[in-house]
Amino acid sequence: MPSPRPTIAIAGLGIESSTFSPARTEAPAFHPQRGPEVLTRYPFLAPGTPLREAAAWQGALVGKALPGGTVTATAFTELSDELIARLAELGPLDGLWYDIHGAMTVEGMDDAEAQLLARIRATIGPDTLVSTSMDLHGNVSRDLVHQSDLITCYRMAPHEDAMDTKERAARNLVELLKSGAPRPVKAWIPVPVLLAGEQTSTRIEPAKSVYAAVEEVEAEAGVTDAAIWVGYAWADEPRNRAAVVVTGPSEPQVRAGAEQLARGFWEARHDFEFVAPTGTLDDCLDEALASFARPYFISDTGDNPTAGGAGDVTWGLQQVLERPEFKDESGPTVIYASLPGPSAVATAERAGIGATVTVTAGAEVDDRHAGPLPLTGVVHSIRHGDRDAETEVVLKVGSVYVILTRLRKPYHHEHDFTDLELDPRSADLVLVKIGYLEPELFAMAADWKMALTPGGVDQDLTRLGHHRIRRPLFPFDRDMPDPDLTARVVSPSDEPLSGADE
Ligand SMILES: [Zn+2]
Repeated sequence: MPSPRPTIAIAGLGIESSTFSPARTEAPAFHPQRGPEVLTRYPFLAPGTPLREAAAWQGALVGKALPGGTVTATAFTELSDELIARLAELGPLDGLWYDIHGAMTVEGMDDAEAQLLARIRATIGPDTLVSTSMDLHGNVSRDLVHQSDLITCYRMAPHEDAMDTKERAARNLVELLKSGAPRPVKAWIPVPVLLAGEQTSTRIEPAKSVYAAVEEVEAEAGVTDAAIWVGYAWADEPRNRAAVVVTGPSEPQVRAGAEQLARGFWEARHDFEFVAPTGTLDDCLDEALASFARPYFISDTGDNPTAGGAGDVTWGLQQVLERPEFKDESGPTVIYASLPGPSAVATAERAGIGATVTVTAGAEVDDRHAGPLPLTGVVHSIRHGDRDAETEVVLKVGSVYVILTRLRKPYHHEHDFTDLELDPRSADLVLVKIGYLEPELFAMAADWKMALTPGGVDQDLTRLGHHRIRRPLFPFDRDMPDPDLTARVVSPSDEPLSGADE
């Protein structure tokens, strides 16, 4: 039945969590928003916008955490219980928009997002239509597709189209409900490839062309949406691998579209390379020092907090501080972002700007690669009030400006540095715990290299020790035979899950 102004709830929990990091994620890290506050997350649902007017939107609970370690069973239960209770209070729903990331790992549980959706389904009933939107680094099991009526993900990495994707998922749901059309056909194809995000940036080939085909498929008659998931490489569950889903009214068209996209991804598997030249940290430092390009950026990739690293690995900073070039304060200007160290931050705060302090920071969570790091330096700046870090201080050690934080924080924007009285544009070297550079840093960097450093999100996947992923899987099984890439049409959400596991 068409609904002229459907009632649609918004719910979801989003995190990318590394099972190779000793860190654990607790409930407050999700910064949950509830009720009407949920709508403020989305500019396209601001009062007066066409999409806002088109439906009666009801926020249940949406939480999004920085990437991190496995979510504790207690945190997941607490958040999901509240999400379910809030949904139950909303009464009958025509639709539900499930806004998730898709790479959440929870202690003692597989496929957490599908399990949460099963609880949601049990609450809202089989007739409510569900549109799921995800990060392209999420994982898509048959079960997740089964319980969704529409499902899609970002098409750009870095994710400049995150809001566009969410808007598309919300708009397609509204249009489906208004049309009264039958549930879309869903063609799902798992692609046995698992790659690091840093090898699959859509800025460069082959991902650029592989993803360009998504919009071509979506433009076909009989197709509503099309998506390719790269999957998440730093968790060890059977679902972790690439996948394609195409949805729409025409079974032949969604099948053909999904098979085209899956083939495109599979055939490109040998061509995915890191988005920047890589090397050991020492090699990267040598090249940066020899280069005339300024500022020269180096990604300290193994402990990237936005991929799920603990953020407090000291190995990278220790190597930097051991280099003779940076021992003297008149050496090349280096900015290092960042290292959490709550007691070091408190000591620097008490001492004040200009004071010389000796502190110890890092390795409280991930001490597998190097221990807590002693630092003696001058307090350069202090800042309070950051959502993630809470308090940040900069300590100048030799010629290195070390950013210390109370809690871990990603450094993605120019203002993250200038707010701390640092000028990355005039620095010689900027080292950041990050993978591929986010757009503002990329634009600022005169040159850039990725250091393959140890940590919970080590870019050398084969040395992490996955043992639960499905095999054969590229690149773990480099010479595996061609897989079955025919489309699996997944049964509608109001019918039992049918079909094999694969
Ligand atoms: Zn992502």
